Amino acid sequence: MKPFLLVLSSPSGGGKTTIARMLLQGRDDVGYSVSATTRPRRPKERDGVDYHFLSRAEFLRRAEAGEFLEHAVYNGELYGTLRAEVERVLGSGRHVVLDIEVAGARQIRACFENSVLVYVLPPSIDVLIKRLRGRRTESDDGLHARLRTAAEELLAVSEYDYAVLNDDLVVAVEQVAAIIDSEIRRVDRQPDLSRFTDRLRRDLLAEIRREAGV
Ligand code: ADP
Ligand code: 5GP
Repeated sequence: MKPFLLVLSSPSGGGKTTIARMLLQGRDDVGYSVSATTRPRRPKERDGVDYHFLSRAEFLRRAEAGEFLEHAVYNGELYGTLRAEVERVLGSGRHVVLDIEVAGARQIRACFENSVLVYVLPPSIDVLIKRLRGRRTESDDGLHARLRTAAEELLAVSEYDYAVLNDDLVVAVEQVAAIIDSEIRRVDRQPDLSRFTDRLRRDLLAEIRREAGV
């Protein structure tokens, strides 16, 4: 089975980070690509676990050196997927979960055409704002900037392969897991399939010959 990239996007507060975390807890065939960012670390975040927190100069140096698979500006801060992160997870035979915004998702699709793009939607804007406020990570200005960006990002849903409604969290996680399970079963992701069906066919023909007594 060839591991693939699974992109999760959503408006800020939509729940993609929470869903990614629960997916990773629930299954051992996925790994997380820890992004790099220039935005300040939130109190509960750990460097190297939630993000690689970089200065702007360091981010730009690494971008110049070609270390990113994709990078984008979100609300004035830089965010990017490190090649080394994706290679680390793929190298361990696991699918890679990426929690990234829309411009980054487009870049990933352009270089990994077999990637799977999932958009996580909130049940309503009231709920989205309540969750975003409840997270207590944004100032009022930050929150409004994120909502303005969300209005743009919602226009991109049609570019994604799947849309999952994050109303009940457990259901949303189950639905993303079901997407992974279905994608694993795609014929074009199973390189050993033709060898297996050839063997089945050989055995079947032998059985038919035996039945016919030849
Ligand atoms: P994102 O990563 O998309 O910005 P988060 O995963 O940080 O969003 O979720 C925003 C907040 O909403 C967090 O406090 C999270 O615990 C909460 N949350 C996420 N999904 C649900 C849900 N289905 N029901 C209730 N709260 C949720
Ligand atoms: P936050 O500041 O809430 O952690 O993330 C802000 C936005 O940046 C979210 O939409 C998140 O998915 C996105 N993001 C996080 N990491 C990356 C990345 O590596 N690349 C891109 N393009 N976006 C990212």
